[in-house]
Amino acid sequence: MELNKYIRDIQDFPKQGIIFKDITPLLSNPEAVNKCMELFIDNLKNKKIDKVVGVESRGFFFGMLLANRLNAGFIPVRKPNKLPYETISSSYALEYGTDTLEMHIDAIQQGERILIHDDVLATGGTAKAVCELVEKLGGEIVQCNFLMELSFLNGRQKINQYDIYSPLVY
Ligand code: 5GP
Repeated sequence: MELNKYIRDIQDFPKQGIIFKDITPLLSNPEAVNKCMELFIDNLKNKKIDKVVGVESRGFFFGMLLANRLNAGFIPVRKPNKLPYETISSSYALEYGTDTLEMHIDAIQQGERILIHDDVLATGGTAKAVCELVEKLGGEIVQCNFLMELSFLNGRQKINQYDIYSPLVY
C-alpha cells in the first residue's frame, strides 16, 4: 500500500513559506492506519515496551493505539499548564523564542522501557526535549518513532544516540 498518497501538502501553513504535511487523510482511512500500525509493530518485534510517550497533540493518535497494541501504558507530553498534577518540563529553541513541554513527575518509574512517538520528525527540537523529560525520570528510551521524517531538516542529528524509526521519509 502506498502510504504517501494519504499525506496532503498544505502550502503556507502555519505560516508563509512552509509546506505542512497534513496527516488527516491518513487518519481517516482505516486501511492506511492499519498499514502504519503493522509497520510500527513489525519494527518493534522483541523489543519489550513498558510505556509509550505521545507528544501533544498529533502524537496522541498513534501513540495511544501503539500503547494498547503493545500492552503498554500511555503517557501524554503536553504544552505548559495543561497537565493537572505536578510536572517536570523541558524547553527547546524555536526559530524565534522557545517552547516548553511537560510531563507528570510520576509518569515513569526508574528503568522503564519507553517508546516515544510523534507524527513528524522535523528539526528534532521537540523529540530532543521529550527524550530529556523521559531520561530525567529514569526511563530507558528504546526507540523514537514517527509517522514521517522530513529528512532535509536533519532532525535525526539531534537524537542520533537513539534508535529512530519512521515508515515515511521525505
Ligand atoms: P520539530 O521540533 O522536529 O522541528 O517539529 C516536530 C513537531 O512539529 C511535531 O510535534 C510535529 O507535530 C510538528 N510538525 C512540524 N512540521 C510538521 C508538518 O509538516 N506536519 C505535521 N503534521 N506536523 C509537523
